[in-house]
Amino acid sequence: METPVLQQREKLSAHLIKQFGHRRIAASYCATAQEAKAEVLRLIPNPASVSRCGSESVGRLGLWEAIGGLPGVTLMDPYAPGMTPAEAFELRRQALLADVLVTSSNALTLDGRLVNLDGMSNRVAGMLFGPRKVLLLVGMNKVVADLDAAFARVRTIAAPANNIRLAGALGLKNPCVEDGRCHNCRSETKICNSWVVIEGSTIKDRIHVVLVGEDLGY
Ligand code: SF4
Repeated sequence: METPVLQQREKLSAHLIKQFGHRRIAASYCATAQEAKAEVLRLIPNPASVSRCGSESVGRLGLWEAIGGLPGVTLMDPYAPGMTPAEAFELRRQALLADVLVTSSNALTLDGRLVNLDGMSNRVAGMLFGPRKVLLLVGMNKVVADLDAAFARVRTIAAPANNIRLAGALGLKNPCVEDGRCHNCRSETKICNSWVVIEGSTIKDRIHVVLVGEDLGY
């Protein structure tokens, strides 16, 4: 990545951390994805149960394997090989009471709001309540000016890209898989069911955002 872009993101992260602080959300900045991986692992208490949910950012770094290998940590993994759909559904229900949820955010605004769109909705449900700690690993390529830009980013980039990523595994028949554009569809297999905007946290520092200078996820 170009050095001026990384420098801009590092400077901007100081503003974002302050904005999150006003919202009772903790945040930290890591220049590289590998540093961010170490930061997430450092923030997981021991012992702890950790909920896994869909996140390209977390998966790409090999974090699930690293978390599963932490001593004293139980990874609640609905994607584990051999799990039936019914078992995975039940585990997602139980994971709403995990000690820690690790995931990403689809977008974040310059004033520190977190914007997400979810299909099954277990990911956004856990962000709102249940797990004692929510760790969000967020590449600064997801920073946008305001809420309108956040909704547009999710509709034009994150949601179609996630549809294309998951199409084979989940058998998605959504129009964005064909042409890369959101059609605001009513498809039975759509993965865009629940919009959630997090404005702040009643429990101080329950949510911790790890900002990453490098591009991560989409
Ligand atoms: S609403 Fe439909 S077309 Fe739009 S991104 Fe979601 S699944 Fe694709």
